[in-house]
Amino acid sequence: MAKKYSNKINKIRSFALSLVFIGFIIMYFGIFFKSHPIVMTLFMILGLLAIIASTLVYFWIGMLSTKAVQVVCPNCNKPTKILGRVDMCMYCREPLTVDPNLVGKEFDEKYNKKQN
Ligand SMILES: [Zn+2]
Repeated sequence: MAKKYSNKINKIRSFALSLVFIGFIIMYFGIFFKSHPIVMTLFMILGLLAIIASTLVYFWIGMLSTKAVQVVCPNCNKPTKILGRVDMCMYCREPLTVDPNLVGKEFDEKYNKKQN
């Protein structure tokens, strides 16, 4: 089985982490514009905004985690969280569903977009 999808919460978490790095990289580039204080300030503000955005994303993950359904993965027996109707196990990336109608069907992220 192709396991190209990853757990949503993990995906958002790595996105937030990359935002922190991007923020620091932007701020680092600001140092090269020491002779142009306005450009340097602009870089610093942009970098700071990226870091603030990542903080907001982390906050959002916290909110999502409380809404996610906690289940024990049948494949690796570890507790994982499902967001939406179909999601991946955080540990072994086994596709999991909370919708009994989808059990046994091939995993597809588009199930999450369908509304009942
Ligand atoms: Zn698992």
